[in-house]
Amino acid sequence: MIPFSEALNIVKHNTIKPGYENVPLSAASGRYLAETIYADRDTPPFNKSAVDGFACRGEDLGEKLEIVETIPAGYEPSVKVEKGKCSRIMTGAMLPEGADTVVMVEDCVVEDNYMHFRGGKGRDNICMRGEDMSSGSIAIPSGTLINAAHIAILASMGISSPLVCKKFKIGVLSTGDEIIEPEATPSRVQIRNSNGWQLYAQTLSAGADAEYLGIARDDREDVKTMITEGFRNNDVLIITGGVSMGDFDYVPDTLESLGFTILFDKVAVQPGKPSTFAVKKDESGEVSKVVFALPGNPVSCYLQFLLLVKEWICSSSGGSSSGIWTKVPIAHDYKRKNTSRLSFIPGRISAEGEFETLSYNGSAHILAMGEATAAASVPVGRGDIKKGESVTIFILE
Ligand code: AMP
Ligand code: MG
Repeated sequence: MIPFSEALNIVKHNTIKPGYENVPLSAASGRYLAETIYADRDTPPFNKSAVDGFACRGEDLGEKLEIVETIPAGYEPSVKVEKGKCSRIMTGAMLPEGADTVVMVEDCVVEDNYMHFRGGKGRDNICMRGEDMSSGSIAIPSGTLINAAHIAILASMGISSPLVCKKFKIGVLSTGDEIIEPEATPSRVQIRNSNGWQLYAQTLSAGADAEYLGIARDDREDVKTMITEGFRNNDVLIITGGVSMGDFDYVPDTLESLGFTILFDKVAVQPGKPSTFAVKKDESGEVSKVVFALPGNPVSCYLQFLLLVKEWICSSSGGSSSGIWTKVPIAHDYKRKNTSRLSFIPGRISAEGEFETLSYNGSAHILAMGEATAAASVPVGRGDIKKGESVTIFILE
């Protein structure tokens, strides 16, 4: 059994290069950026007004100022603002020469082409050229998972088809004689395939393409055939079930018989101890195929996807970490008996910013995850946490 941190390290060091492509902005959200974006101009590109108002010299405020020009956004000012004068200016328009102040239209009275400032927020209505970013600075680092804010930044930097990582093709295979599809009617001993569809959804939301491969029976040949088939269109397989110590858990042996090297098959983490990671290398020694074989227990499978598989996708795509980790106080006492593994406890962040555990019966209790927004990690050796103590949490997304 290896510590979770070591398992994560192994996952992050056995990546596959995804290949790269340019995509239009309309298709770039949710993709990993594969180039560093530098600002091609200062932001803002010129001194501009932050409000609709009047541009003038600050020292002239108090006097009636003659309006010499109207400056809409998108037009160059043509008149220098001199003593006793001002220009009507719109939000986003370029500040005219001579002006050092913009007053808001709401704070002014206009009469016969003269403006009189009645007092108010006088001075802070100018955005200075380059105050957000100067030309040549890094606007977005390579490896960023592109969200809507990054789309805005790409557009503002003139990038209409960024270079992104190609999506990984990931096959999802369930195993188990007791497992049936959701539309089938279960007998008394059958269980619906929740993991397969959950992994499919998680794969898509982690920015990869998913192929649903169905359910392999607990039979060596069936497991072998379905894994082989699964690699026809995919470089990565996520398998669920069949990795524990049961008589019918054939996945690890089958992977070895297919030429995979198992890099770990027991992790000191709860839930998810039997999580297994196997790779195959090509002639040049590069990792070319990867298998995550996750335990069948639904919460283990759910969390280990986020903790291991999503991290692998992120690392392979040049990102540093896919998860959000932070520390918050716990809302009540917490106790556990066995402290030999790093444990993840589902919970919620309350309106007061505290971590509240949910009613949770263990790794089969997938219903708890429907309500959970975070998981607290309780380190090895730690059995007791008192109300108000800080816990490290992992945001579930
Ligand atoms: P296993 O890891 O194959 O020993 O399975 C552990 C537990 O998870 C058993 O109770 C299984 O019935 C359950 N399980 C396995 N695969 C799935 C699945 N695809 N969907 C829901 N539950 C599953
Ligand atoms: Mg099984």
